Amino acid sequence: MSANLPDYEQFCSNFSWDQARQEIAGMGNGRLNIAFEALDRHMDTETAERTAIRFLARDSETPVDISYRALNERANRFANVLLDLGVKPGERVYGLAHRIPDLYAAVLGTLKHGCVFTPLFSAFGPEPIRQRVEIGEPAVLVTSKRLYQKKVADWVAETSSVRHVLLIDQLDEAPAGTLDATALMDAASGDYATRDMAPEDPALLHFTSGTTGKPKGALHVHDAVITHHMTGRYVLDMHPGDIYWCTADPGWVTGTSYGIIAPLTNGVTMVVDEAEFDAERWYRILQNQKVALWYTAPTAIRMLIKLGEELPRAHDLSSLRFMASVGEPLNPEAVIWGQKVLGLPFHDNWWQTETGGIMISNYAALEVRPGSMGKPVPGVEAAVARRTEDGIELIDEPNETGELVLKKGWPSMFRGYLHQEEKYRNSFSGDWYLTGDLARRDADGYFWFIGRDDDVIKSSGHLIGPFEVESVLLEHPAVAEAGVIGVPDEVAGETVKAFVSLKPGYPPDEALRKELMGQARKRLGPAVAPRHIEFREDLPRTRSGKIMRRLLRARELGLPEGDTSTLEGNRE
Ligand code: AMP
Repeated sequence: MSANLPDYEQFCSNFSWDQARQEIAGMGNGRLNIAFEALDRHMDTETAERTAIRFLARDSETPVDISYRALNERANRFANVLLDLGVKPGERVYGLAHRIPDLYAAVLGTLKHGCVFTPLFSAFGPEPIRQRVEIGEPAVLVTSKRLYQKKVADWVAETSSVRHVLLIDQLDEAPAGTLDATALMDAASGDYATRDMAPEDPALLHFTSGTTGKPKGALHVHDAVITHHMTGRYVLDMHPGDIYWCTADPGWVTGTSYGIIAPLTNGVTMVVDEAEFDAERWYRILQNQKVALWYTAPTAIRMLIKLGEELPRAHDLSSLRFMASVGEPLNPEAVIWGQKVLGLPFHDNWWQTETGGIMISNYAALEVRPGSMGKPVPGVEAAVARRTEDGIELIDEPNETGELVLKKGWPSMFRGYLHQEEKYRNSFSGDWYLTGDLARRDADGYFWFIGRDDDVIKSSGHLIGPFEVESVLLEHPAVAEAGVIGVPDEVAGETVKAFVSLKPGYPPDEALRKELMGQARKRLGPAVAPRHIEFREDLPRTRSGKIMRRLLRARELGLPEGDTSTLEGNRE
């Protein structure tokens, strides 16, 4: 099968977003809807009978196939449930669920009804969930009974916005204050006229973390579907009917853009596995489901590598045609391992919540440079820049490190941080979006990731704001100060480490450490809570009182301490 993008340079020189817009169906008069592209547009074609979701339940590997037609009907039912409940287009619907088919129907039904969908990660503890609910004020929360009882029930009545909690797992009885959405969907009509939206109407709100303050809600519009569709086709090389497996959780942006939208607009069959990572199961899925396209992440790849070559060699993985990776730096050895053991290199690509879709990538038809993120997606202009007093200056010389910046104008660019206008404005300098990542570009135009320009932590591919973790630690009566950093980890990339100083009278002993760990896990969830806590007499602060995480990190890792002139106690 030939690659959709056989010649990168030529394709880039002929590419325009207007032309890419022709590849989506649209709804007439310049109006569109992401869900229309994902589902409705296929209803008069042979794609309607194709499997959209091949679902593997946690305790079974016998697939349950859901066709495009059936998924469309289920999404229509969800849209009708919203309509019947009086939920208005433009209102927000949050999803907090494991990978189960009705979550996908809920996402698409929400979009059909013109509401804005926000995914939440099901491994979050109650605190990150509550915070995101308070910021985004959804009218509806879609979740499961277990997650509701464990993480939501205690506080949801105190929030003023949530009018309906809809439970989408099969229930005997919905707890008080919730509705059995499965039953409501079963009873609702399977017909719904998907709303035609303006390209700039909001569609998705994705939360991400910064260095300071609360999580930021990055707002995306329906026009984003042009990027999703185009990158699915030309970067991930989706051909209609391909078996595609994106292992990212739909609680994050990758699991939405490439775990729901792009595969459906491109008419592929997506494998959805409810279970957590398990190397043997994963190899069996690749083999038994005959996966052709596999989009996964460095942490998972490193875990597979650690388990050796015997397992993959015992499986027939000959259906694989293209493998890609995203979310954190992919070590060059992992690319080479893929080639040696699985017969294909992993194609690293780079993007972030704010960009909504892949921006820099390696391509099927382009030489892969192990360790490089690749070249900009056609239609995307990327550069390396240094900050100056009045903005930025692009760096032309190759191999110089600077901030990775992207020229405004791709359709899936975020259109705002919810309620944080200034923060949004500050993410741009003139026509350039400032990514906060450091990178260099080599003489041939390949981009190489250097690191983050701020203190956010990437652990197992999840972006963690140190401030969120520090805030929860500070709630404990014993804690005087907390500073949270990421420390390198062979498998997870980074893990969260907290430095804590105690109030007088509290002994820094093992019992207290355990108590703090326990509290953090309970409130933040295992994906966010610190893996290590270390007690310190005091923490380095700037004279204005801010904990110097950079210095904590440098000291922890034995790195140069850099500029410490603002350190409290230092007097030049
Ligand atoms: P998120 O917004 O959670 O998707 O995280 C985006 C951040 O993840 C980027 O700003 C990078 O710091 C990191 N990231 C994503 N993809 C890559 C990659 N291919 N290589 C290195 N870092 C990456």
